[in-house]
Amino acid sequence: MMTDTCLIVTFDGLRRDRATADLMPNLARFLGEGTDCVNARSVFPSETRVAVTSTVTGCAPAAHGLVANQFLHPVVPDRIFQTASNADLSAAAAAGQLIDRRSLGERLSEAGRSMAIVSTASGGATRMMSHRAHALRHPVFSVHGTPVGTEALQQMAEERLGPVPEAGTPNSARVDHAVDVLTEIVYPEHHPDLAILWLSDPDITSHGYGVTAPETAAAQRACDAAFGRLLKWWQAGNGPANIVVMSDHGQITGSARVDPVAECPDWEGQLVPGALCGLWLDDPSAGEVQDAVDRLRDAPWAGLIFANGPDGGRINGAMPWSAVHQGHARTPTIGVTLRAGPEGADGMESTLFAAGIEPGGGIHGGLTRGELSTVLAAQGPAFRQGHRSDVPCWLPDIAPTILSVMGLPVTGTTGRVMAEILAADGAAPDWHRHVETVEHRGQVQHLAWWQVGASRVVDCGWMEEAGEAAPQCLTKEAGA
Ligand SMILES: [Zn+2]
Repeated sequence: MMTDTCLIVTFDGLRRDRATADLMPNLARFLGEGTDCVNARSVFPSETRVAVTSTVTGCAPAAHGLVANQFLHPVVPDRIFQTASNADLSAAAAAGQLIDRRSLGERLSEAGRSMAIVSTASGGATRMMSHRAHALRHPVFSVHGTPVGTEALQQMAEERLGPVPEAGTPNSARVDHAVDVLTEIVYPEHHPDLAILWLSDPDITSHGYGVTAPETAAAQRACDAAFGRLLKWWQAGNGPANIVVMSDHGQITGSARVDPVAECPDWEGQLVPGALCGLWLDDPSAGEVQDAVDRLRDAPWAGLIFANGPDGGRINGAMPWSAVHQGHARTPTIGVTLRAGPEGADGMESTLFAAGIEPGGGIHGGLTRGELSTVLAAQGPAFRQGHRSDVPCWLPDIAPTILSVMGLPVTGTTGRVMAEILAADGAAPDWHRHVETVEHRGQVQHLAWWQVGASRVVDCGWMEEAGEAAPQCLTKEAGA
């Protein structure tokens, strides 16, 4: 067996403090026996398609340019560009305006290595795991079938394992089916050098029922049982040499719905709502941007605000986009998170939300600790075993680390090779935590980040009114 092959297993929406031995015993054992990165973080916005793209390009959104789950894009001038839509992604790709950096699929293909995808995620998310998979002849299995999945693998899976089970919350039937496709077809038939297995729970169940709901606990247990089955197969000598386990973001509790476009009807067509609301100004002059930031700052639903002035100048009341690794040509003029509130009865942070769930459901996309907190761990000959790493890291660090394990160049990634978790290296970089604060019109916004060697990892962001302390759940120090 080659010792540099890798499988990435993703538990969508799993925050690190919910990866407990009670809910996920197989995962907890994997964390303890392998390398467990306890200060792992997502990107901003902490949305799935942005996270997928950052994971496979090894880059922040400022570099790859898939700046949010939905945003304004020149290929669909009359409506909002939807990254959930494979047709929108294809239109952007045809125009050469999908992403600006090479993905793992392209890098492996150039090096003569192979890749495969097995995914229970949305079509858009699955597409972004290797956006040129069809052209590169990488097998893709999607629970949504073709055209995101590849014809031959979809057909073989149906013939051997039957039709894709119905979706559900928990989505256990589909999760089990995906593990079967990976272990019974993809590895025996294709022997990929790198594979991604993407499990859509606990995310989708948590959206429906809440982060700590019994249904979400059941989804976690079912995912963990499927993962346990996969580990047994792997420990019997099947599949890849190394397994990297990750999540793409966490979740917190949605407290109440807000409709930013209804609140600001004159911005219709320019304001795209979401956990990160984007505002595109026709006239992004310093005066216009400052007026819009002032207006947003006075809105009771507004959280942290990000904007750049012309020529990189600062805008009062906003942090520069670079603080959150944004600032691509497609990044909105101004971005504002929805206001995160106090800790709820379930011990989770809460936030206003714009759409997609009912109050009490789980939500993500913003900058609270619970949304940015992810699982990142690894086992296999390439990685240190029985090692708890507190060095902060984030999704863009995953691709360069895997490329380094495979002996491939990391040029063009903005993430960091995590030498501290590699068996062959182990040297940890210096790191320090910083908090940046902006006060404006009686509101204070904070952003905590780590300087890790030459790279900067955002820990979390939070708001408070001047003179008031923020809820501890939003600010507490890391070190899960
Ligand atoms: Zn997700």
